Amino acid sequence: METPLIVIAGRPNVGKSSLFNRLVGRRQALVADQPGLTRDRQEATAVLGGRLVRIADTAGLEEAPPESLSGRMRAGAASSLEQADLIVFVVDARAGILPPDAHFGAWLRRLGRPVLLVANKTEGRAGYNNALDAYSLGLGEPLSVSAEHGEGLSHLMSTIAEMLPPAPEAPEGTDDEAAGAEGDDATKPLRLVVLGRPNAGKSTLVNRLLGENRMLTGPEPGITRDAITLPMRDVDGREFQLVDTAGLRRRARVQDEVEKLSTGATINAMRFAEVVVLVVDAVDGLHDQDLQIARLVEREGRAMVVALNKWDAVEDRDAARKAVSDRLERSLAQLKGIPVVTLSAMTGANVQKLLPAVRAVHDTWNKRVTTSALNRWFEDAISRHPPPAVQGRRLKLRYVTQANARPPTFVVFGTRAEATPEDYRRYLINALREVFDLPGTPIRLDFRGTVNPFRDKD
Ligand code: GDP
Repeated sequence: METPLIVIAGRPNVGKSSLFNRLVGRRQALVADQPGLTRDRQEATAVLGGRLVRIADTAGLEEAPPESLSGRMRAGAASSLEQADLIVFVVDARAGILPPDAHFGAWLRRLGRPVLLVANKTEGRAGYNNALDAYSLGLGEPLSVSAEHGEGLSHLMSTIAEMLPPAPEAPEGTDDEAAGAEGDDATKPLRLVVLGRPNAGKSTLVNRLLGENRMLTGPEPGITRDAITLPMRDVDGREFQLVDTAGLRRRARVQDEVEKLSTGATINAMRFAEVVVLVVDAVDGLHDQDLQIARLVEREGRAMVVALNKWDAVEDRDAARKAVSDRLERSLAQLKGIPVVTLSAMTGANVQKLLPAVRAVHDTWNKRVTTSALNRWFEDAISRHPPPAVQGRRLKLRYVTQANARPPTFVVFGTRAEATPEDYRRYLINALREVFDLPGTPIRLDFRGTVNPFRDKD
């Protein structure tokens, strides 16, 4: 589901911008304010009542001369109003209901989108009485606030959240539909790239994969001069685009190639790919260069599977498997639980297990966890292991939401949340990974300080 859109509307000078700033909280905005679709509109992302929302302000309209208001209102703001999941219609309770308010109110009623009527500037007794005036608009009970004095805002935020279309919830706490909307579409080819040290067996593996799976067309030019893309389909009919940088490897001398691991072509191929298969020579064991590639994968936010190749030539398999797994866990704190598939590209043994592992880690990389499931976990996680004090003051972490997938990206909000120390961040990431079953993918966790959005001067 798309992030719900809330549009703040009303005639000039009723306080739309102040309300926008209060709702966005400035410091709690997830992304910097984006210049709007028109000059008449700014937009920001915020969390209200635990829901991630987009809030648009039509404040630019305030510059319009009043007599041209309705015309400009239609031209500049109508399109965003038509797309709004909720229109927050603001009137100035001190000034009372003026003809432009009534005019605009009637227009909004005809538009047929959900409207929340807000009477602003209601500080003090007179303000409250004036708010009652707004009933005459025929848009239901006005909600009284004072954007300037910060009154009535928590009630406003929770009312907005209640009026939005329900957030999608999947029973097991994940939301596959939302992921689908963003491009985790099983009909789109899954893009993977095979990387690894020289002689790890990449070419042999690519040839084996092509031999076992149906090539859809011939090789296509790749994303760099040296790479080609190989479209293929696995036994289940899932399409893949396999990036092969073989040309690059053949030309380069071995030393050059090692350097190239962290440069141009490799990084390009990695950016293009969704999943990286790191081929490791099991006889040789895991080298620093392998870890170097894995760290790049983490930095670029890709999912990863290790193909532990030449398994046919390994004598002590238990020891070899353990050595690699231990080193991966120890050295890659940011990318825990990477699936390891032992195989032999040369004989073909176990190669059929590779693509299922790639698909599984790709699903994980696309995974969405619902806000409610996240916050149930979050409460438990912070009560079990409370956030530390920083410079003598306790951190108050309030709630968490998943802002993105590919890779899973979460945002924790709270007072001074941005000061959360590294080891506590690590604790939360590890717990997230375990509880929501997210192995083999980087997890991003951001912290946003808020001016306590749930408590104002109410
Ligand atoms: P690349 O440089 O990573 O592309 O590696 P190649 O695919 O060219 O393979 C390097 C060498 O390892 C070749 O001599 C391959 O025959 C050998 N090789 C590749 N896969 C296997 C395997 O599964 N088992 C064994 N024993 N040798 C392998």
